[in-house]
Amino acid sequence: MRKPDIFDEIIQCLKTGAQAGADTSMSEAVLRDLYAKPVRKNVVPVQMSAAPDRTASASSVQKPAAPDRAPSAGSAQKPAAAGRAASAQGLPPAYAPDMPEWESLRTECAACMKCGLGRTRTNMVFADGNPHAELMFIGEGPGADEDATGVPFVGRAGELLSRMIAAMTFDRATETCIANIVKCRPPGNRNPADDEAAACMPYLKRQIAMVNPKVIVLLGAVPLLYLFNLKGIMKLRGRWLDYDGIPVMPTYHPAFLLRNPPAKKDAWADLQAVMAVFGRKPAPRR
Ligand code: SF4
Ligand code: URA
Repeated sequence: MRKPDIFDEIIQCLKTGAQAGADTSMSEAVLRDLYAKPVRKNVVPVQMSAAPDRTASASSVQKPAAPDRAPSAGSAQKPAAAGRAASAQGLPPAYAPDMPEWESLRTECAACMKCGLGRTRTNMVFADGNPHAELMFIGEGPGADEDATGVPFVGRAGELLSRMIAAMTFDRATETCIANIVKCRPPGNRNPADDEAAACMPYLKRQIAMVNPKVIVLLGAVPLLYLFNLKGIMKLRGRWLDYDGIPVMPTYHPAFLLRNPPAKKDAWADLQAVMAVFGRKPAPRR
C-alpha cells in the first residue's frame, strides 16, 4: 500500500470541506470525479472557470465546452494493453470532433517516422485531456504503460500527476491537456536524445498553438531543456517563464517526486502559484 502524501491530504480536505458545504472552489465535474475514484468515466462537459484573462491575447475568447469522447474514425492506433484511463473504454484520448486540425495532427503523428523512435514504438502518444483546456502539462515522453495504451501519464508517475491535478481542483479529463516532448517511447525509458526531441518539437509547438492555454506547467528537466534551452530544474522550478506570451511554470516531474517524496512540498508550492492564476484556492490544511 502506498503511504498517503500531501496530495491525498489535500484531496481529503477538499472532500471534507465540500461535505460540510464549504466553498472549495470546485466545479461539479471535479467533485464528481473525486468521489468516483479511480478510473475516469465518460466525460461531462464542464464550464471553464472564470480565471483572469491573459492580457490582450487570443485567450480572451471563450473556450468551448469539453469535446465528446467519441471513437474516432480511422485511428491508426494499435489496441491498448490491459485497460487503463481512457483506453479502458476503447476511446481515443483527447478526441476533439470540434477541432479538426487537432485530429489531422494526430493522424499525421500516428504515421510519423521522422526519428528513430518511430520504429520501436507500439503506440504514438499524442495527448490526453481536452485540447480546449486552459491548463496544459508537458512531460518528457511515453514510458512502457503509455506506449502500451497510447495515453500519456497513465503509469505510476501518471497516477501521481492525476492526484496533483485533483489537488489543484482541476478535472484531468476536461480541464487539462497533457502532452510530452516526444510522442514515441525512448527504449528503456531513457531521456529523449537531442535529435529526437528536435524532430518531434514542431508537433508539440503546433499543439500548444492550438490549445493556446492560459498556463503551461513543465514537468521536469526535459521540457525545460527543449522548450527553453535551459538547464537546472532544481534552481528554476517555481519561477515563471514565458512561452509566446503564455506563462509557464516549471516544476518537478512526478517520477522524481515518487523517488524524492520530500520534494512534493516544493511541487505543491509551484502548483499553488498556478492555481492562483485561475483564482482557485487550495483546501485549508487541518
Ligand atoms: Fe515522429 Fe515524434 Fe515519434 Fe519521432 S518521436 S517518430 S518525431 S512522432
Ligand atoms: N512520463 C512522462 O514524462 N510522460 C508520460 O507520458 C509518462 C511518464
